[in-house]
Amino acid sequence: MKTKIAIIGGGPAGLSAAVAARKAGVKDILILERDEQLGGILNQCIHNGFGLHTFQEELTGPEYAARFIAEVEEMQIPYLLSTMVVDISPEKKITCMNREQGMFVLEAEAIILAMGCRERPRGALNIPGYRPAGIYSAGTAQRYVNIEGRMPGEKVVILGSGDIGLIMARRMTFEGAKVQVVAELMPYSGGLKRNIVQCLDDYDIPLKLSHTVVDIKGKDRVEAVTIAQVDEKLKPIPGTEETYECDTLLLSCGLIPENELSGKLGVELSTVTSGPIVNERLETNIPGVFACGNVLHVHDLVDYVSEEAGAAGTFAAEYMTQQFAEDTTEIAICPEGGVRYTVPSSIHPHRMQDKQIVRFRVGNVYKNSELCVYFDDSCIMRLKKKVMAPGEMEQVILQKKKLQEYENLSKITIRIEQGEA
Ligand SMILES: Cc1cc2nc3c(=O)[nH]c(=O)nc-3n(C[C@H](O)[C@H](O)[C@H](O)COP(=O)(O)OP(=O)(O)OC[C@H]3O[C@@H](n4cnc5c(N)ncnc54)[C@H](O)[C@@H]3O)c2cc1C
Repeated sequence: MKTKIAIIGGGPAGLSAAVAARKAGVKDILILERDEQLGGILNQCIHNGFGLHTFQEELTGPEYAARFIAEVEEMQIPYLLSTMVVDISPEKKITCMNREQGMFVLEAEAIILAMGCRERPRGALNIPGYRPAGIYSAGTAQRYVNIEGRMPGEKVVILGSGDIGLIMARRMTFEGAKVQVVAELMPYSGGLKRNIVQCLDDYDIPLKLSHTVVDIKGKDRVEAVTIAQVDEKLKPIPGTEETYECDTLLLSCGLIPENELSGKLGVELSTVTSGPIVNERLETNIPGVFACGNVLHVHDLVDYVSEEAGAAGTFAAEYMTQQFAEDTTEIAICPEGGVRYTVPSSIHPHRMQDKQIVRFRVGNVYKNSELCVYFDDSCIMRLKKKVMAPGEMEQVILQKKKLQEYENLSKITIRIEQGEA
């Protein structure tokens, strides 16, 4: 079996990449999706708020996904559902499995990685106590409530203030559960400000920053959860413990890009994002292998996933038709002073598009600070920022014209200055 472009993952990233690659003229595209339907994780996100940037409308997750699925159907882009990719070789041979065909190999000329992310599990969190029933990741609970029609419990404590935890605090409340508290280890929330207001404040659910779970009581089922305040080293402070009677503990403690396949393939991964390191074409260190969406870095808004994935689809199409201009000058983009990483992490100034969006997250809350871009030692951009927080993605736009004014440029640095953390 052969295809020109294989897309792994049929979530919003894979769908948008497929549509863009087809619009750019590639006929032979195949989307491989392990689930029994397209749409990715959005199928279980039935709340609204999706698509404000892309469609200037407030859509639910499934409605947002449906728009891209409709385009895929209209363009007759083929896809295989219930098909799990289990291996990718550097020669771009993709080993897949499904019930109808068993195990088979697909040969592709270009590959777009769009496998999304998964939640950090309890095992990775070092929470003491027994392992009773009633402990779920927030995403699992979201699936139970929104897709399976089951309630995980009635009295809930949530650890972690990532967006899925915040959304589930409101969702469980709607369904009649009592959400007692959201405890967050860090002194700031990991979620969007709008979700704290709309999902916690509006329902009087307390958010306890700098708190973590120190004990879980109950052997068969969760009976109570004890939380405590933590110090600057994130160690629990004795004497600050508070115990909440509950039957359910939801964990919303971070998302991890799904890069086991990419790692095995030899794609270089960032130690900060756990996603592939890519250049301005969203191409990894393996020519013809591109990455986009949450597999690349965890996004705050799906609109940015679709935009980025559309670019990956277009670049993969250009790669297919050999339209990539030669450019051996590669300039590193270096994150410093509070900027944790950048996507892309390098740029070719001659072949880049007129404008290049560089997206990243910051490592702390910064107030009244400046986002600065340096070309070697020259500061070429200062953006005043009232607040920057780890829960929200930031971006700067680099202009090709400006880059070409600096002939012997060796590095671009993005950092935060004059901010009080
Ligand atoms: C549990 C959860 C809940 C979320 N809730 C929200 C929310 O409420 N609001 C919001 O804005 N964002 C939410 N997000 C973030 C959301 O994931 C992104 O906005 C968006 O869905 C990312 O798109 P994606 O296509 O990169 O990833 P996904 O939507 O995760 O799609 C990836 C697809 O790849 C498939 N896949 C993975 N590995 C393989 C493989 N080996 N073979 C074949 N197929 C594979 C998966 O089945 C999936 O369909 C949530 C994320 C998670 C994990």
